[in-house]
Amino acid sequence: LEANFSVIRNEDGPITGLITVLHDVTDQEKLERERREFVANVSHELRTPLTTMKSYLEALEDGAMENEELAGRFLSVTQNETERMIRLVNDLLQLSKMDSNDDPFYFETRDFGTFLHEMADRYDMMFKDRGITMERWIPGRAMYVDFDSDKLAQVFDNIVSNALKYSPEGGTITLQADARDDRVVVGISDEGPGIPEENQEKVFERFYRVDKARARNLGGTGLGLAIAKEMVEGHGGWIDIESEYSRGTTLYVTLPYTGFQSAGVEA
Ligand code: ADP
Repeated sequence: LEANFSVIRNEDGPITGLITVLHDVTDQEKLERERREFVANVSHELRTPLTTMKSYLEALEDGAMENEELAGRFLSVTQNETERMIRLVNDLLQLSKMDSNDDPFYFETRDFGTFLHEMADRYDMMFKDRGITMERWIPGRAMYVDFDSDKLAQVFDNIVSNALKYSPEGGTITLQADARDDRVVVGISDEGPGIPEENQEKVFERFYRVDKARARNLGGTGLGLAIAKEMVEGHGGWIDIESEYSRGTTLYVTLPYTGFQSAGVEA
């Protein structure tokens, strides 16, 4: 804690008051440290693909261009890196909008099961190409939830794209939804490598990756789950993780559920 004192007096007259300002330095320092780390991380994340692109472009200039097969490979590396940088910048813009409360939510009361089926249909197509089976367990009865479908679509896209990235060939991804008394819980499980216990909570931090090199090679930005967490919290819900090392991972999205009342139908 830091204290600043100022005295209040008229001209050179007697002191008539005293102002004390107390700052919580620890909080301020923590924020400042986080900000510095964030800028350092962003710079590093942008420099890595740029350095890679630079060296591949140099190799092309130095003769690799003459070799058709090599040239094609090198160009596709630079293209992948460019795409990853675009994803990174888009994720950063998204976070920055959320940080400055400049990203309004458009809530709508809809049947959540219908929404999940729409999402799952889309994932089905994606998974087929990769030899992954999808199982879905979505209750048949209506579950009215107040939510922003674009935001939740992004939340599930981020979680499902990780499940897909880390799934073994021929694995199964399960999407399971369940309505409890006052909340709806959606679990997305994969049969991937899992995450060691000590790293599990950190995956929601910006730029945190369990295996840096591997996550980068898979094209991640390190921001997907941080964004998902903020979006779910913007719905008054929360997100958590359950994972067993070498067995698989489940991410749970929990949202407040008001049943039929919020749909305008009184019980
Ligand atoms: P990234 O863009 O790197 O995937 P995320 O914020 O989406 O960033 O995830 C953070 C990290 O959490 C990932 O780099 C990975 O190490 C770990 N992770 C997330 N989902 C899974 C999963 N389903 N299986 C294993 N590891 C995961």
